[in-house]
Amino acid sequence: MIDTHAHLNFSQFDKDRKDIISKCLNKDISIINVGTDYKSSCDVIQIAKEYNLWASIGLHPSDIEEGFDCEKYKELICDKVVAVGETGLDYWRKPKAKTKREEFKEKQKQIFIKQVDLACELNLPLIIHCRVAFDDVYNILKDKNTKGVIHSFTGSVEDLKKFLSLGYFIGINGIIFKMDLKDVIQKIPLDKILLETDCPFLSPPQFEERNNPLSLEVIAKEVASIKKCSLEELIKATDNNALKLFDRIN
Ligand SMILES: [Zn+2]
Repeated sequence: MIDTHAHLNFSQFDKDRKDIISKCLNKDISIINVGTDYKSSCDVIQIAKEYNLWASIGLHPSDIEEGFDCEKYKELICDKVVAVGETGLDYWRKPKAKTKREEFKEKQKQIFIKQVDLACELNLPLIIHCRVAFDDVYNILKDKNTKGVIHSFTGSVEDLKKFLSLGYFIGINGIIFKMDLKDVIQKIPLDKILLETDCPFLSPPQFEERNNPLSLEVIAKEVASIKKCSLEELIKATDNNALKLFDRIN
């Protein structure tokens, strides 16, 4: 299996990163660690090189204060980098005043568009974070020729249809144990689902509080039961999907 969205670079794993990664590799779980700013993008590449994993580089919408220097990110590109992200739009904590709110959204959009253009230029898929911003993310992507995943999908069936029409994959993680997404999951074609943990966040129930990629199987079982297919069928399909989208993984 491939955890298509993890943050093992985070400090929560400083004490036992090596141990967790070796447990994952023993269980044949590969991992894409996803950068959320410039420093963490450097870190995920370092980890990918050290443990033979994969990396994605980008600037998360909640971290845009540092600004996105496209050339600096471009210098990081190497054979371990399989995607651009985590990028996208997050309107969850928007300012209350209308003028401030517009400014806040506009800033996020500008930095998102820069990363979309970078992904186009490098022919890399995008790993997109989208929180209460589905229309704006869709409107930016619809005029660009990109491929990618809407990670940790929490949208409606209508949102789902729009992103499927763009050829996008849909990232599913432990948030399905916290929100009722059954209807949406039933409507995602098997060849468009990607599994992820978003660890250390979104731990499934009865799994340790700090999530890690070993919980991927718990998520896979739940998705298989919702989609009424076997676990083997689900894992086979989602592995194929990950290799298809992140085609630099060899
Ligand atoms: Zn993430």
